[in-house]
Amino acid sequence: MCSHTHTHHRSNDDHSYPEQLGVPHSHRRDFLQLLGRSLAGASLLEAGFFRATVARAQSQGATERMFDIEKVADGVFAALAHPAAITNCNAAIFVNSDHLVVVDAHSKPSAAAALIAQIKRDVSTLPVRYLVNTHFHYDHTQGDPAYKKQGVKIIASEMTKRLIQEHSRNRLKDSLDGVAPMLDVLRKRLAKATAAADRNWCNDQIRQLQSYVTEMKAYAPELPDITFEKTYVLRDRAQELHLEFRGRAHTGSDVVVYSPQRRAVATGDMISGFLPAMGDGYPREWPASIDSVGQMESQFLLTGHGPVHRNHDRRIQLRNYIAELTGMVDAGKRAGKTSVDLQKTITVASLKSMQANGYAKYVSDNLNKFTVYLGNKTPLEDRLVGNVDAIYKNLDRA
Ligand SMILES: [Zn+2]
Ligand SMILES: [Zn+2]
Repeated sequence: MCSHTHTHHRSNDDHSYPEQLGVPHSHRRDFLQLLGRSLAGASLLEAGFFRATVARAQSQGATERMFDIEKVADGVFAALAHPAAITNCNAAIFVNSDHLVVVDAHSKPSAAAALIAQIKRDVSTLPVRYLVNTHFHYDHTQGDPAYKKQGVKIIASEMTKRLIQEHSRNRLKDSLDGVAPMLDVLRKRLAKATAAADRNWCNDQIRQLQSYVTEMKAYAPELPDITFEKTYVLRDRAQELHLEFRGRAHTGSDVVVYSPQRRAVATGDMISGFLPAMGDGYPREWPASIDSVGQMESQFLLTGHGPVHRNHDRRIQLRNYIAELTGMVDAGKRAGKTSVDLQKTITVASLKSMQANGYAKYVSDNLNKFTVYLGNKTPLEDRLVGNVDAIYKNLDRA
């Protein structure tokens, strides 16, 4: 199954799907630093020119958008990440009486900084006091330094902190190593593209990838400031926020953030509108963990990727998909089939959970809308293949 792009292959064994990055903020920052250095030796006239250029670059930055912010309930907002060459997660924003709590921090500090600025403009001028990392994945934690720089306290579970310590360096390296093959695909596509829109799209993706590499070359991870075992409560006049571990699922330590007053749960990647990455997952335990989150009295699910869920239908479909697929892979493995055998026989059409109530179309539409896909099947088929392989490997992990 590795006959096509390298990026596709990578989706099988880790979380680094080739979905993602938005805007060349790091590029702009380098540009500004360069201008700053040049200023030292410039004449007054030149300095005036440079200042105007800097002001223009900054004002352009102010209008660039990497997220759409959507009001979910009173004091609850979802920041939905635009599709990008290096995936950014969504963020959830909870407005408390004199501060904000943000959940999850994207794949690079400049994306987190862009969201902080957008929150100030579009949501509230109150300062962010806490950032929660739902789990250790790079597309949820690599923006942490931007929050830390502003004095924000980062909260995560003990286990997530341990997983960040253990994996952050390798996962960053994986994401950087993934750039060259993606550039390769994009340059080939660019060479064949004739429509201006296609050429612009390819050039924009290439620019995003290059700016990611530039920004992340000197990246130093930050660790959470506050950690907890299973539960942590942030009390405020506006609402209580319950940070809870409800069982292993997408990783060994997924935490959800629940506001009983607003009937809203930020779910991280345990629940989303995509087919999830399962490379770090616990397929046998995942459905029960989703059930447990479903028992929280809530209406709104703010997911790590894709749209806000305004009822529980899609949550249940995801749960059924994971349970059904795990059952099929389990049976196949017991019957002596290899992962590659099963990747061929388990298809979207063969899964009852995919056919029920348009679930396959729902997921496919979300992937098309929210991700960048460089393979040559469909993102839905690719992710199913990745899920079969990940379940095969992870079925009986301790
Ligand atoms: Zn994610
Ligand atoms: Zn994840």
